[in-house]
Amino acid sequence: MTDNTAIIKIIDEITACRNITLEQLHMLLETDDMQAVDYLRKRASEKAHETYGNQVFIRGLIEFTNYCKNDCLYCGIRHSNTHADRYRLSTEQIMACCESGYELGFRTFVLQGGEDPYYTDERICEIVSGIKAKYPDCAVTLSIGEKSKESYQSYFDAGADRYLLRHETADEKHYSRLHPAEMSLENRKQCLWDLKEIGYQVGCGFMVGSPGQTVETLYEDLQFIKELEPHMVGIGPFISQKDTPFANEKSGTMDETLRLLSIIRLIHPKVLLPATTALGTIHPLGREKGIQSGANVVMPNLSPVNVRDKYKLYDNKICTGDEAAECRYCMENRMKSIGYQVVVSRGDYANF
Ligand code: SAM
Repeated sequence: MTDNTAIIKIIDEITACRNITLEQLHMLLETDDMQAVDYLRKRASEKAHETYGNQVFIRGLIEFTNYCKNDCLYCGIRHSNTHADRYRLSTEQIMACCESGYELGFRTFVLQGGEDPYYTDERICEIVSGIKAKYPDCAVTLSIGEKSKESYQSYFDAGADRYLLRHETADEKHYSRLHPAEMSLENRKQCLWDLKEIGYQVGCGFMVGSPGQTVETLYEDLQFIKELEPHMVGIGPFISQKDTPFANEKSGTMDETLRLLSIIRLIHPKVLLPATTALGTIHPLGREKGIQSGANVVMPNLSPVNVRDKYKLYDNKICTGDEAAECRYCMENRMKSIGYQVVVSRGDYANF
């Protein structure tokens, strides 16, 4: 059997049994047979089509604070980065982002930020309930890090629908390479279980190509995703940021990110899978290629233009100078150019 035939057989096996072995993952990530890689992409794209057709869901991303008490080694808004120009959005500014977003057809608002103690549970609940009262047909997603189960419950009771918390890596040793000693994988995972138990639509995920990542640690990620059964999986390339301890580390690649998007799609046919801004940052057509590799969500930025440049998780982030409307229509055109249609809907997990 030639290498090519063997890999194609593996791809068919993964598609049929929705699982992957470590050996198979090695083969899919390490092969330089581009025909086989193209087959992987094709099968994943077919899988996404079976559930979502040619529809792409959009989420309006509001990056409302870049203050963070954590010191993740990879992240440009880490606490000890004294070069970060810090900002916070007021409730009124956040509501203004939602207003323009709603007019542009967004029906999901993603509130993302560093872990910023200024936003007490009370403030977060006030913001969430304010958005839900004004836009009852919209979903609110929170992505504000690790909190107690009680806090998560209070946000849920205030109306939050979804929560994104990338687990970052499911391998203990790798986790401690990426984070300071006071952060733990155990707590991160517990948060995800708590969120799920409360009833959120939950998203986990990881960076591709983070320092110290191996096929083995990626396999741990896939195992954890299988165990958690999240509604969303956010993956994007690690991109170095000049003011972090990882300034000189190599960034992740588009090729590996696309392969992993396809693999995740085959294992989790219905999962909500974004083609991330980081993917668009490492390649001008990264998001289009992400969608063609099995992703089905994009998250244009709704943050006010004057703060966008300050939410610098990594260097050379795209779209920092564009107005919300520009991002929205740019995305629509990008998706059209590859035969996909951006839809005005909440874009919930396909529970059928
Ligand atoms: N504080 C929240 C949290 O911890 O989930 C949300 C904000 S955090 C900045 C959002 C995500 O950005 C992280 O989960 C991480 O995967 C990603 N990120 C941070 N630094 C990055 C980098 N240098 N390259 C790519 N992604 C990065």
